[in-house]
Amino acid sequence: YAAKRHPTQHWVRYSPEVADARSDTFAAELAAAAERGQLRVLYQPIVDLLTGDLVAVEALVRWQHPTRGLLGPDAFIPLAERSGDIHGIGAWVLREACRQVGAWQADLPADRSLHLSVNLSPLQLERPELAGSVLEILDATGFDPHGLVVEITESALVDDRSAVPHLEALRARGVRVALDDFGTGYSSLRYLTQLPVDILKLDRCFVAELNGDPARAAVAEAVIRLSQILRMDTVAEGIEDAAQATELTLLGYRTAQGYHFARPQPAAEIERLLHQPTAV
Ligand code: C2E
Ligand code: CA
Ligand code: CA
Ligand code: CA
Repeated sequence: YAAKRHPTQHWVRYSPEVADARSDTFAAELAAAAERGQLRVLYQPIVDLLTGDLVAVEALVRWQHPTRGLLGPDAFIPLAERSGDIHGIGAWVLREACRQVGAWQADLPADRSLHLSVNLSPLQLERPELAGSVLEILDATGFDPHGLVVEITESALVDDRSAVPHLEALRARGVRVALDDFGTGYSSLRYLTQLPVDILKLDRCFVAELNGDPARAAVAEAVIRLSQILRMDTVAEGIEDAAQATELTLLGYRTAQGYHFARPQPAAEIERLLHQPTAV
């Protein structure tokens, strides 16, 4: 009866050792996830707002955990950054995405292109061997560097200028650099002119504010003007409805990404989209 009245007492009570043991297991599982074939890459379409064409995909990692199910990056990337596994995971994602997108590119008609965006953790940028390992993966997979965009966050660059030479080395080979979640960090505009950046990705929180109220479009508008002055490209993130897509188009955005167009999805789904006359 006691068990029924207090079912929680039959669970292991909280104890630090048990919690540690559990997270140790999780960390060990994470360390082995790539070699056990448990990591997946989903691809989210990035579309041309005027034509609807699929112009790029962003690679987004998932972990198909044997008991916990499909885990999103928020559930394991922070741990991977603490454990150092982020370097192996990041390399795995890049290799897998280059292999996959390279195969798609080879099948495209000559007048179409498909770029690949891959996220880099600030920790990856701290490593001197980053540029070398990215270029090695490009060579090994035969992926054209001009088709690759690496997405980094503002803070990774502003806090630690040592990332700049690594990014310059990649840009020298044709890789482009996108500043992810743009507008949410604290990067000063003064730095922006000096940073090795080609693309600004307008964070989705500013897109969410675009609901017909002109004043709310202020940041989205400021970012597009800034990109024009700095001769950078833009991608608007997190478009969830047609009204936002229209508003961004009117502001001058040309490329966008969001659930309104497509969710991150497995390679097979992207392949289906690529074979449609109008991609998305
Ligand atoms: P992010 O780079 O800003 O990626 C965009 C995130 O927004 C993705 O979440 C995507 O599913 C989500 N998203 C896309 N469209 C919409 C929309 O219309 N509405 C809303 N509410 N969300 C949308 P996801 O896949 O869970 O990834 C979360 C973050 O994890 C990414 O944010 C990125 O910072 C990180 N991440 C993902 N894959 C990798 C990776 O391979 N390496 C590293 N270092 N980080 C990764
Ligand atoms: Ca990103
Ligand atoms: Ca983002
Ligand atoms: Ca983010």
